Amino acid sequence: MQTESEQLFEESKKYIPGGVNSPVRAFGSVGRSPIFIKKAKGSRIFDEDGREYIDYVCSWGPGILGHAKETVIEAVKAACDDGLTFGAPTRKELEIAELITAHMPSMEMSRMVNSGTEAVMSAIRAARGFTGRDYIVKFKGCYHGHSDGLLVKAGSGVITQTVANSAGVPEGYAKYTLVAEYNDEESVKQLFNAYKGQIAAIIVEPVAANMGVVPPKAGFLEFLRDITQTDGALLIFDEVITGFRLAPGGAQEYFHIKPDLTTLGKIVGGGMPVGTYGGRREIMQCVAPLGEVYQAGTLSGNPIAMTAGIETLKLLDAHPEVYAKLEGKTAGLAQAAREAFGDRVCVNQIGSLMSIFFTDKQVVDMDTAMTSDTKQYAAFFRYMLDHGINLAPSQFEAMFISDAHTEEDIRKTIDVIKEFAHR
Ligand code: PLP
Repeated sequence: MQTESEQLFEESKKYIPGGVNSPVRAFGSVGRSPIFIKKAKGSRIFDEDGREYIDYVCSWGPGILGHAKETVIEAVKAACDDGLTFGAPTRKELEIAELITAHMPSMEMSRMVNSGTEAVMSAIRAARGFTGRDYIVKFKGCYHGHSDGLLVKAGSGVITQTVANSAGVPEGYAKYTLVAEYNDEESVKQLFNAYKGQIAAIIVEPVAANMGVVPPKAGFLEFLRDITQTDGALLIFDEVITGFRLAPGGAQEYFHIKPDLTTLGKIVGGGMPVGTYGGRREIMQCVAPLGEVYQAGTLSGNPIAMTAGIETLKLLDAHPEVYAKLEGKTAGLAQAAREAFGDRVCVNQIGSLMSIFFTDKQVVDMDTAMTSDTKQYAAFFRYMLDHGINLAPSQFEAMFISDAHTEEDIRKTIDVIKEFAHR
């Protein structure tokens, strides 16, 4: 007998490529049919078959407060009554821009867009427009959305499918993307020597979270700040995952580094489709209508999306203790996983982000991440799912912990991890 989710998946495959609107959702690398979600509340998601799961995907990051937070939902409902979209400036856009600058002072000006992909694409255009240079440096295994020039040695979904580059990207588009090794200063120096004065920007996930979670080595981000400054290139922090998650001011607050440009997504939209890019005033003044760098959007700054973002940021502001609580819960879970598996795994954790890599190597970059036994991860994933715990359906994605995860949720998760480890 097929489950309801299996039936829906079969039907969806007739109309949607692979049955899904984003590849990793198809569960391709974990050897199962995906669960179709009906609703979510707090730390729980519920599938179409009426099963309940403790959720560590949290919609891939936006859900820092847990699913369907009442205050946010109420505000969104009220905003809907006033109209869904106007295509004209609103008070709410000012309010969220002020909130962003207050949290991340490096973002003196910012622009709202509709996804992290769009934010990164636009930030890179601004960096090129400002510097008059064409090349950018990215790191192997870092993911910055699916715009053409960035699907070069990208992480997570792309690794999971073992596609190094996407089809459909003309060689010329990728030509200006130079790739360095994460946590490897030498590989960056080599590119800056070879392309002196031609690199517009380095873009980096300050904590890599798309090859699984890989924190930066001590001094690595400082080094990136120095080398860009010396060469006249810009430093772009892609904080789509880390923004408002590692700290109220994101990774730049956590590590005390001031990037020139920052990209945001996920939490800043409070669960709605939002991305943001921003940074130094003189750079952002290059963006139209002030400057020559064109960028626009019919639904950008959408009032419903702004409402969800504003309410989420305000709730985080009202409860600054959330961050220490998140860190405590996540560190506890990470330590329990280390104890359960011993040296069969490498558990990386920082703030409310963590990954359990099935390898005995220290995971510090994409190459070491790739030493993970993805079949073991798939077996782990299936066991957890069958026991009511929803993890990311890929070794190379992060586990996200939310404020709604209770001590009881964490204890239950640890029990199931132990059962799996000691089978
Ligand atoms: N940048 C990072 C670091 C991401 O993790 C993601 C998505 O996961 C993106 C950019 C792209 O964001 P979106 O999926 O909203 O386009």
